[in-house]
Amino acid sequence: MITADQMFEFEDKIDALIRQLQQEIADAAESTAAVAPDNAIGRISRMDSMLAQEVAKAAVALKQKRILDLTAARLRLDQGRFGWCAECLKDIEMERLEMAPETVFCAACSVKKNS
Ligand SMILES: [Zn+2]
Repeated sequence: MITADQMFEFEDKIDALIRQLQQEIADAAESTAAVAPDNAIGRISRMDSMLAQEVAKAAVALKQKRILDLTAARLRLDQGRFGWCAECLKDIEMERLEMAPETVFCAACSVKKNS
């Protein structure tokens, strides 16, 4: 069971994480825009920079997904449903929530889901 104090902590933590991810996405947009397409760089390094852009795009997509998951966790927190396993409805281990507040499964169910 999560105490009121822990709820406030998670609120702050989730809000901070979302802000951090949004900042990282904004920074990534700046750095990818900085690579001009007709730059006088060789074909190989051009491929490298395209590849780097793809990697950066994939990283941004992951971050956007995490923001969605965190936003959902924030909603569960507001509704008093935070920290329950979506599968077995038991409390999710505190260490798991500390590491990733968007977690929806307890350790045991997460293992089952991934196997
Ligand atoms: Zn579970």
